[in-house]
Amino acid sequence: MSSVAEFPATEPAFGLYVHLPFCVSICPYCDFVVYAGADARGPRNRIEILVDALIVEIGLRARSGGTAGRADPARRPLSTVYLGGGTPSLLPVGSLRRILDAIRTAFGIAPGAEITLEANPGPDERGDPAAQAAAGITRLSVGAQSFAPAELKRLGRRHSPADIGLALDAARQAGIRSISLDLLYDVPGQTLDSWADGLERAVSLGPEHLSLYALSLDDPDAEGLTGPGGDHLPPSAGARRWRKRARPEQDDDRAAAMYHLAVHRLREAGFLGYELANWALPGHESRHNLGYWERRSIEAVGPGAHAFDGRVRRWNAARLDGYIAALLPGGGRQPSLPPGGEEILDSTSAAAESLILGLRLDRGVPLTAFLEPPFMDAFDWAVSAGLLEETGDTRVHLTTRGRLLSNELFARLI
Ligand code: SF4
Repeated sequence: MSSVAEFPATEPAFGLYVHLPFCVSICPYCDFVVYAGADARGPRNRIEILVDALIVEIGLRARSGGTAGRADPARRPLSTVYLGGGTPSLLPVGSLRRILDAIRTAFGIAPGAEITLEANPGPDERGDPAAQAAAGITRLSVGAQSFAPAELKRLGRRHSPADIGLALDAARQAGIRSISLDLLYDVPGQTLDSWADGLERAVSLGPEHLSLYALSLDDPDAEGLTGPGGDHLPPSAGARRWRKRARPEQDDDRAAAMYHLAVHRLREAGFLGYELANWALPGHESRHNLGYWERRSIEAVGPGAHAFDGRVRRWNAARLDGYIAALLPGGGRQPSLPPGGEEILDSTSAAAESLILGLRLDRGVPLTAFLEPPFMDAFDWAVSAGLLEETGDTRVHLTTRGRLLSNELFARLI
């Protein structure tokens, strides 16, 4: 199955993901590992103890040499660091510095590395971009989600449309040169007009990158992801009720129209749709996220974080108590790696995964990737259904229709 592997089966960590699981409040649709309220703010917040635990995990992961626990003599400095969450911009800058210093000491960070911070635009959430830039942040990913006040309210967001512009202005003044905005579509109550207006307002703010996500209302409990070792937390009863009310208000046809509109408008504005949900001005693609789609080795720390070393997928359990107890055991005991799980991919699963992730990218995959017998039928079906097309350089990529119906093709490849 080696014909689909465009990247080496294993490699030293290319990037590092750090999960910072704190938000001021929890949005009812959110499935990320998040702790809010007194855990995130006030005298009993758990930010500093989490940072202490993270620093221990960073050291342990660097010494263990990767997700498979191999010592790694060929380690090289990281090309990307991604501080995601949660709302990492909530962290005091001193805590961000401590984390980045620990990463530098344990892994090294290459000159010119991309160091992304996820931020929310609200005045009580965005932190101090000048201090964040001085700490080494080179790229900001801002959770705008919508420019319609009613949609923001319905989604449980804390910011106003005006806050989004203010957050971008502050980041620009701080010298941050690469800014991404996240927007949501297929939101209950959203119309094609409000989506078009939101896109215009987003483009007018001059971000270098946009991520557009269809609102997803999955049930992590039903998927069996929320047990003691699971990588998700159970949604609250209120979040469940919210999702139940919201689901009937979603509409596949409206979502498809919104996606089409974005494809055309963002192309006009000079953005390249380099991945199914991501558009960038030339040179501003997310290097860290490209690492996932290219199946590069990405180390990961923090509750619920997922890592990959080219062969093994590993995850930490979501629960903060167990995470902290393992890494900061107290009583003179040695820290241990936090609870979690791992999956070793066999060659067939790895080939399917490589193909699916490669097809998410606009450059697609080599035609030879489909010559493996399990994939030939899916290829014929997808070409006849107008989902895939060949380019002149013997590569295959999704058409716009294929982007919209990609899950149908991906299900046939697994
Ligand atoms: S701000 Fe983001 S991470 Fe925090 S609860 Fe809302 S969606 Fe989840």
